[in-house]
Amino acid sequence: MFNSHGMSSVAVVGTATVVTMLALRALRRRWSPVITCKLSCRCGKIQGEVSAIRQDSIRINCYCADCREYATFIASLGKQDETTIGKLGDNRVVQVCKSALKITQGQELIKLARKAAKPNAKGQIYMHRFYASCCSVPLYNTVDFLGFVGVFTDFLDERCKEYAGPVRMFPEEALGTPASPEADVFVPDFLWKLLRYHLWRNCGPFDYKQEPVYWATAEAKKQD
Ligand SMILES: [Zn+2]
Ligand SMILES: [Zn+2]
Repeated sequence: MFNSHGMSSVAVVGTATVVTMLALRALRRRWSPVITCKLSCRCGKIQGEVSAIRQDSIRINCYCADCREYATFIASLGKQDETTIGKLGDNRVVQVCKSALKITQGQELIKLARKAAKPNAKGQIYMHRFYASCCSVPLYNTVDFLGFVGVFTDFLDERCKEYAGPVRMFPEEALGTPASPEADVFVPDFLWKLLRYHLWRNCGPFDYKQEPVYWATAEAKKQD
């Protein structure tokens, strides 16, 4: 057990550590470059831009089955053979604050897709996934009450490789084992970014009110 003296030195050391870490993060962020890249859907009717400080970004290779099913469904809308799905079943996004994304052309062509109208038994949060209706490609995923957006790097220019990462998510759902796997997502960093982005949760070019296409139900119907 701590006596009162022991307790206070633990508190002092703890506070000093947290303050130092936050100060180091703030310094690193100051030195972190702003990276701007152009967004263009496959046919070019939709144009936009992502502009974010490197440290406020994170490239994510997501191996989850949901992202795959969604990507397959969106491609099928336009009878496209080519999807955003990588060899091992991955979809690649760069996650930034909602305020980092701008659409400069073709906003009316961007449509909303959601997994289903009602949450499943586990209470899973269904993302708001936006896609290009002109050429049937997924563009970006978000959640209406959170501050982040994950933009598909397939439709960003080469500079997007300069964003932080990549890290992987849901590797247990991958379709194979990569030769040189990405680092696992560092959860404290991920949550810290979500918290920081939260002030901007109402920003960005997102129309959550449009009638979505429900991809899980639509896929199930096709298989019947
Ligand atoms: Zn297009
Ligand atoms: Zn996913």
